[in-house]
Amino acid sequence: MNDVRAKKFLGQHFLTDENIARRIVESLSSESRHVLEIGPGMGVLTKYLITREDTDFHVVEIDRESVVWLHEHFPTLDVIEGDFLKYELTSLFHDSFAIIGNFPYNISSQILFKVFDNREHVNEVVGMFQKEVAERVSAGPGSKTYGILSVLLSAFYNIEYLFTVPEYVFNPPPKVKSAVIRLIRNDVNTLECNEKLFVQVVKAGFNQRRKTLRNALRQLNLSLGAVPETILAKRAEQLSVEEFINLTKTIESCQ
Ligand code: SAH
Repeated sequence: MNDVRAKKFLGQHFLTDENIARRIVESLSSESRHVLEIGPGMGVLTKYLITREDTDFHVVEIDRESVVWLHEHFPTLDVIEGDFLKYELTSLFHDSFAIIGNFPYNISSQILFKVFDNREHVNEVVGMFQKEVAERVSAGPGSKTYGILSVLLSAFYNIEYLFTVPEYVFNPPPKVKSAVIRLIRNDVNTLECNEKLFVQVVKAGFNQRRKTLRNALRQLNLSLGAVPETILAKRAEQLSVEEFINLTKTIESCQ
């Protein structure tokens, strides 16, 4: 594959607006002292992040050309060349850490699932996603965009939709609008239910989101005997995180 074609798969849309770049970096809480930037590209966020005081700062970038550029322009910066999705995050920081970036949109959901899997270590995320993903993650029950990631992440994070970003501040411009969101870890250590089952219940519920939970949860092959009729008659998008936790507890209790 030639270079230009290969790069198409890297989700490269470079931010060209310095005010927006500063706003993203300023959205990171001042308490976050260990910071990882995903996909720094040509360093539009990096140059502000690098000036943060007392910060243990690293970047992970998959694109060779960007890595070379970063080494040249920020000689003291720790640039990890590689795929964020494959990177073992706990090998980098001993303490919990923050993730920031104008993320590659082709792997947005995978980045967020990785945050969920590493929730014991990731205390904050500030990042730009395509607007639709940002809305999905920050949506609450009852909304059409409320889904798996909204429930899983809001069980452990307080999520805020910060601001919308137009297409024309990127080079090349993406096809859709973007938005910046912030996730801050809440104080829940473990859920009051089996967390593996919780994930299965949430996924099964939303995989067939138009069906009632009675039908959508059938694929789990578990007894739903103890679950109240009022819950089984609802659809996944109508349940709050608390209700999903209670539902999981009830299912667990009747196996
Ligand atoms: N932060 C820069 C670039 C954003 S574009 C800016 O705002 O201008 C997304 C960046 O993510 C690109 O530099 C791309 O090479 C990088 N990238 C894509 N997939 C990646 C992955 N799996 N791991 C790490 N970086 C990745």
